[in-house]
Amino acid sequence: MTTAIYPGSFDPITLGHLNIIRRASRIFDKVVVCVMVNSAKRPMFSLEERMELIERVVKRLPNVRVDTSDILLAEYVKRYEGPVLLKGLRAVSDFESEFQMALINNNLNHELDTLFLPSSEKYTYISSSVVKEMAKYGSDLSKFVPREILNDVIERSKQQEGKRNGE
Ligand code: ADP
Repeated sequence: MTTAIYPGSFDPITLGHLNIIRRASRIFDKVVVCVMVNSAKRPMFSLEERMELIERVVKRLPNVRVDTSDILLAEYVKRYEGPVLLKGLRAVSDFESEFQMALINNNLNHELDTLFLPSSEKYTYISSSVVKEMAKYGSDLSKFVPREILNDVIERSKQQEGKRNGE
């Protein structure tokens, strides 16, 4: 039994994330998408909302589940059988920090390995921050986020822009 733990902020989940999750669900017995609590970022969606959006999108993938954690990943993974950390790599620029994180996590938990899946070509330029930026300008987001959550992103962006403009 191998369980891939796929950590991230997923604010919001993009087609790039979904592509990694789909491919991982064919490789591993079980995939856990873990929404990490990161108090440094000001999120578009709350933790609970991000989890609900991901759950909606992965509904048809039976071996994928969604969780959250506010503890060290090296500790968190111990609750699973045959855990490995899974990271998506968009470009060489992702590699340096991800490589460093992989070494740190292995140092904290010697049994823990990190596996990297390269992004599929058509998703390499997608990130949650690009999605948020495009949403502000009312761009077509259908090439960036799964259709199940498209309206949620559009509506939330409008609300936040409204607040910023003091409406
Ligand atoms: P973002 O960088 O979009 O804010 P997260 O912090 O949620 O994303 O990233 C979670 C994981 O997903 C990381 O391993 C990141 O490298 C990976 N990832 C993000 N976007 C893509 C993409 N378009 N293709 C492949 N992997 C991605």
